[in-house]
Amino acid sequence: MMEKKLIKIFDTTLRDGEQSPGATLNIQEKIKIARQLKKLNVDVIEAGLPASSPNDFKAVKKIAKEINGPIIAGLARALKPDIDILWEAIKEAKKPRIHIVLGTSEEHLKYKFRRSREEALQMGIEAIKYAKKLCSEIEYSTEDASRSNKDYLFKVIREAIRAGATVINIPDTVGYAVPEEWGKLIARIKEITTTENVLLSVHCHNDLGMAVPNTLIAIKNGADQVECTINGIGERAGNAALEEVVVALKIRPDYFGVTTIINFKEILKTSKMVSSIMGIPVQPNKAIVGANAFAHSSGIHQDGILKDKRTYQIIEPEEIGAAGHKFVLTARSGKHALKHSLEKLGYKFKESETRKIHQHFLEVADKKKEILEADLVAIVEEETAIPREEIYQLDYIQTTGGNKIVPTATVKVKKKGKIIQESACGNGVVDATYRAIDRIANLRFKLVDYSLKSVTGGKDALGEVTVHIKCRDKAVIGRGTSTDIIEASAKAYLNAINRYLATK
Ligand SMILES: [Zn+2]
Repeated sequence: MMEKKLIKIFDTTLRDGEQSPGATLNIQEKIKIARQLKKLNVDVIEAGLPASSPNDFKAVKKIAKEINGPIIAGLARALKPDIDILWEAIKEAKKPRIHIVLGTSEEHLKYKFRRSREEALQMGIEAIKYAKKLCSEIEYSTEDASRSNKDYLFKVIREAIRAGATVINIPDTVGYAVPEEWGKLIARIKEITTTENVLLSVHCHNDLGMAVPNTLIAIKNGADQVECTINGIGERAGNAALEEVVVALKIRPDYFGVTTIINFKEILKTSKMVSSIMGIPVQPNKAIVGANAFAHSSGIHQDGILKDKRTYQIIEPEEIGAAGHKFVLTARSGKHALKHSLEKLGYKFKESETRKIHQHFLEVADKKKEILEADLVAIVEEETAIPREEIYQLDYIQTTGGNKIVPTATVKVKKKGKIIQESACGNGVVDATYRAIDRIANLRFKLVDYSLKSVTGGKDALGEVTVHIKCRDKAVIGRGTSTDIIEASAKAYLNAINRYLATK
């Protein structure tokens, strides 16, 4: 039997994904995600754009030093100072890669760079030659390739390979391509790149909802590497969703005839972690990782599933590491039972961490009779969240509400050991709570978005609140969970304010 071609998975959650509005991460958060991406076994982690900020530089440097296994890439514009900063950040990686990007479309050349085609080509070539002296692996991206003049694009690719590029990435930067046409373009580029010892890569955006189909058709037409993000996050409508691409390849080997080294059991955990840390919820009907991806609601479907799962299901939830809404524990379960359940979910913790999780578990189990697997995941996520400098901590909250009275809230918050208390009225108890907290923080925040989700079913379920707030044009996200939705709302708001203050 012929060996199946191995498609390289290039994850750009920490670079393109971090460019999602409001999703900025701190250094520890980027490292936490990078560690999970290593467990997921991606081939390449694009850790950031180090020239963009000192914090991103530090984060990329730390990832390069610590994460051993995948190639660690970073992005740079075709400018020597950018490349120098990038190299400084990634040079300690076991397998570093410099990724240079330069536009090839008229839109980019004329309006962004104000350069002629020839001038831009020279700029790109010089950048590759300069970077090649620092690093043997050079990826070159022809930004906005799908809207570029084809002859010019092919010329740039040939010259880039001659100058030393080892990976040629073809981005559909604005999500303009359609699968059939895109597939043909990739096949033609494959003819140019196949004789040389270089990898052909694609990077597809989702503006018309075609990022995943375009990525798959590129594979069918010879692409060796695909660039994706977890949950498809990224600029505007996002990138190709990693989980959708790799599972499609797994479920249809008959059609694609390729494989990846992805550790499928880590998919759901990675999706949840990225969603939780970045504060970007996953839509319920999202393929593979959405809450309803494996839910069967019509009677006919349920009947079929009960007779044989194959009737209406092509993926086993367990294959992607799904922890079901299965009952696991109660308040009377001991630490040993908790440890066992955590291990079954794939978690391993030190004794001190287990103790903390057990404490939190008891608090929740006190209010909620049955602890389900999904509750445990939520508890673990909260307990292992990166400790930020918590300037404000919720101490006490009391609210009154109803349809015939003015909703009021009294909130007590700890700040460096001191208690601050404020009360306020509002249009509802959440509004009253947020007004009271605004008074405590002595700042005016604009609530851009508020969402409440229950972690599991049942009236006593854990509620998870996500808020997006804005202050002086800076957008931040906060989250909080509790069996009481007002408490969860207050925690989420304080979490967002703490994050806002930490960025200053
Ligand atoms: Zn992109």
